[in-house]
Amino acid sequence: MAAEVLANLGADVAVFDHMPSMGRKLLLAGRSGLNLTHSEGIEDLLDRYGPARSRLEAAVHSFGPDALRAWSESLGEDTYIGTSGRVFPDSWRATPLLRAWLVRLVGLGVRLEPRHRWSGWADTAPSASSSQTLRFFRANGTVHEEEADITVLALGGASWPRVGSDGGWVTILRGVGVRVQDLQPSNVGVETGWSPHFVGRFEGTPLKNIAITRGGRTVRGDAMVTVSGLEGLPVYSHSSAVRDEVARNGRSLLAVDLHPDLAVDEVARRLGRRRPKDSLSNWLRRSLGLSPVAIGLLRECCGNELPGTPEALARLVKHAEIVVVGTTGIERAISSAGGVTLDEVDDRFMLRRLPGTFVAGEMLDWEAPTGGYLLQATFSTAVAAARGALQWAKISGGGAPE
Ligand SMILES: Cc1cc2nc3c(=O)[nH]c(=O)nc-3n(C[C@H](O)[C@H](O)[C@H](O)COP(=O)(O)OP(=O)(O)OC[C@H]3O[C@@H](n4cnc5c(N)ncnc54)[C@H](O)[C@@H]3O)c2cc1C
Repeated sequence: MAAEVLANLGADVAVFDHMPSMGRKLLLAGRSGLNLTHSEGIEDLLDRYGPARSRLEAAVHSFGPDALRAWSESLGEDTYIGTSGRVFPDSWRATPLLRAWLVRLVGLGVRLEPRHRWSGWADTAPSASSSQTLRFFRANGTVHEEEADITVLALGGASWPRVGSDGGWVTILRGVGVRVQDLQPSNVGVETGWSPHFVGRFEGTPLKNIAITRGGRTVRGDAMVTVSGLEGLPVYSHSSAVRDEVARNGRSLLAVDLHPDLAVDEVARRLGRRRPKDSLSNWLRRSLGLSPVAIGLLRECCGNELPGTPEALARLVKHAEIVVVGTTGIERAISSAGGVTLDEVDDRFMLRRLPGTFVAGEMLDWEAPTGGYLLQATFSTAVAAARGALQWAKISGGGAPE
């Protein structure tokens, strides 16, 4: 996105990526539906960025959800608003969008250089002079050096490293004094330590239409039982808070409501009609329509000692507490928390220590839930960094276009 903005304003642009092709993370994101942005009001949207809101606000205002949708449409991908206000391209995937985008970039004269791994600068200590020499390792082992007036780093976080973003840049930037918070998993599954019986029977089984509450916040959706815990939207929504609580206290609790459409009294009333010959499982299935995995989860939460009275069982169905002992690793996370601390960049996203070098996207230290907020902030900061870069180059006389 930064390349497009810079090229549109007349700059001579090259994009380097160490992977054999560009945009692999975007393609991966598109596999489960490319959620470009969210249709809620801009103030609510900005609130999703938590403490980073004030630093992202100007960028999101200047290239917000409407601009992002218009951009997608300009590439032949109209957008639609799906359930819960999320915005998707019509094709739902990223492939057509990325293909059209790369054609556009080449048409604008942007040089695409895949298989080039950025490894820092040719000079050990990059200066704040008007140009810098960047160093890359090619896939064939040779070194390539490129002189640039402006550099926009958009190297991502460290989730799903096999599609490119492996966080290798952290050492490089720390090496020149830039403060970087450790990259941590965000929007990620949780580890629970299931019993072997539960995993053996239910790994890969969805828990449909549940609600998960933590810290007074409830999120509804489907979750999936994994070999080590749970994943899925309502789990991801709590994962940052869980991650931080586990770091502090060694564990965290998630309360699962297995029947969010019924009040606890109604659940108890329905459980009041137990046939004498009904097993506990049959009783739960017949009265409440609970699936085997939901009943298994109830047993898991109380050491297989399910309460016998309708009232106590109803309370458990509405509030089954799972002990969480950690989050899944960053390599399986949707996004990363941490990154270049926001006080290291100015309002244009330029590194204060390295004038002429700008940072955009997930490399920056902000996090947000799923729902299109990740791509929105990524695109917004890229546009802001590119515009800021051209403005800076003009002021500093760094060879920028007229
Ligand atoms: C499974 C999955 C689904 C997702 N779905 C959504 C979604 O629907 N909506 C949403 O908003 N977000 C989604 N995301 C998150 C979203 O994809 C990211 O937030 C976004 O791609 C971040 O963009 P970025 O440009 O900052 O980094 P990236 O997209 O990670 O791009 C960084 C690029 O830098 C390259 N690179 C890294 N290091 C170097 C180096 N040293 N030299 C050269 N190149 C390098 C990488 O190869 C990569 O191409 C999803 C993520 C995952 C994993």
